[in-house]
Amino acid sequence: MRYVEEFRDPKAAKSVLAAIAQVADEIGATRDKPVHIMEICGGHTHAIFRYGLDKLVHDGIEFIHGPGCPVCVLPRSRVDECIELAELPEVIFTTFGDAMRVPGTKKSLMQAKADGADIRMVYSPLDALELARRNPDREVVFFGLGFETTTPSTAFSIQQAAREGLTNFSVFCNHITVPPPIKALLDDPHMVLDGFVGPGHVSMVIGVHPYDFIAQDYGKPLVVSGFEPLDLLQSVLMVLEQIRDGRAEIENQYARVVPEHGNPASLAAISEVYEPRPTFEWRGLGEIDESGLRIRDAYAAFDAEAKFGIGYGAAKGRAVVEEPEGAACGLVMTGRCKPTDCPKFGTGCTPEMPLGALMVSSEGACAAYYQYGGARATEAAE
Ligand code: SF4
Repeated sequence: MRYVEEFRDPKAAKSVLAAIAQVADEIGATRDKPVHIMEICGGHTHAIFRYGLDKLVHDGIEFIHGPGCPVCVLPRSRVDECIELAELPEVIFTTFGDAMRVPGTKKSLMQAKADGADIRMVYSPLDALELARRNPDREVVFFGLGFETTTPSTAFSIQQAAREGLTNFSVFCNHITVPPPIKALLDDPHMVLDGFVGPGHVSMVIGVHPYDFIAQDYGKPLVVSGFEPLDLLQSVLMVLEQIRDGRAEIENQYARVVPEHGNPASLAAISEVYEPRPTFEWRGLGEIDESGLRIRDAYAAFDAEAKFGIGYGAAKGRAVVEEPEGAACGLVMTGRCKPTDCPKFGTGCTPEMPLGALMVSSEGACAAYYQYGGARATEAAE
């Protein structure tokens, strides 16, 4: 398959691995004194484990798993607010499938559905729009969730609803942005981060320049990367070469897909429909200024928070909910510990009986360890 197989070529991988080993040796990286490279995106975490890259690279490279899984960083309080909305009798609540099993404080959307709430899985916000057209006597709410990758499609659906004059469609907006949590992690004196591998699909929308501050203000390299094994290996090599050469730059390994300045149509839709929230709550990171998006007043008719008075739109304000006892979700989410360090991993928390979102989401670090580490990961946890 063109554009896939050449990025999984074992011969080419061997040669990039050799180059990584050479540069790692040149900079003196060892198992005891590793170079810490954060892969921001959960999709990258899964690719690293699926292809065993963590075991193939030089011992002196340590991957730190970042907060780039939108389902995982959603705090429990926000899941509770989804359920509050979904259980309103007039509401058809629509969501992508990977949010269905994320536990709130009392239940997940899946359990709320079993209890009688009208919750439907969709593949796109356009499916939710179609439901709204077909059910004029019901309120259709779409669970808008994700980073800059999915934000434009929700914006386009709101613009389309406005053009059609639909009055029974709204979005529960949980769209978030990548740069603010990276800044929060860089400002954390306990974090040791030597460089970053950035999510290519996010940069398809925003380009590479929103990351300039990482190089300019913090002196760290970031390489925007694709998702195939050779993409990731080449990105790791580019980060190491920058460290060796004393450079800190934002480079684009995924230039076959990522335009330097992003996608103008998507950026225009985002800026027309949304504005930054003053603050937004992240699992494990707490409240981060201007890290989430809200729907602008011009489109308030399509804002489920304003329409139903739930969440940040509620007059009473909203409560921050702690993690379940013993769960290390926040620490794993921010790369402070590995999934196998969580006392619940593989025992109190499994894909079948998840305690945290990281074990449920297709991009969650705990799910990656469990799925690809298998028995070894579970043994390591015991
Ligand atoms: S194993 Fe479960 S409880 Fe522990 S960090 Fe992962 S998702 Fe959270």
